[in-house]
Amino acid sequence: MEPKECLHCLKRIQGRSDKKFCDNQCRNAFNNTQNGVSNNYIRKLNRIIKKNRGILEELCPTDKSVKVHRKELTKQGFSFEYFTNIYTTKAAKTYYFCYEFGYLDLGADYFALVVNKKALKEL
Ligand SMILES: [Zn+2]
Repeated sequence: MEPKECLHCLKRIQGRSDKKFCDNQCRNAFNNTQNGVSNNYIRKLNRIIKKNRGILEELCPTDKSVKVHRKELTKQGFSFEYFTNIYTTKAAKTYYFCYEFGYLDLGADYFALVVNKKALKEL
């Protein structure tokens, strides 16, 4: 068995060869770092998606669908790459949702905004 390095401090580990860390202190420090990175990532994505939701809610506050130009959305900082789920209708139209607010690409830079109140009740 090759001597292994601690995943946290990179010092050579003494003792059992299946150990990944020098001690619990190194294990905890490593896990905290890992969680910290992924938590930051999750927080960042959540912020973007919540911002998207807020923009959609502002432009489409009621059940009635609203047609908007791409500029209306991008002007407010909308990020098309981030959403929570996709819904494809039987007619093969794809809605992108940020929580209960969604949009459909109508082509020519126009989007139909919708609210799916039913989705909330189904949860
Ligand atoms: Zn260590």
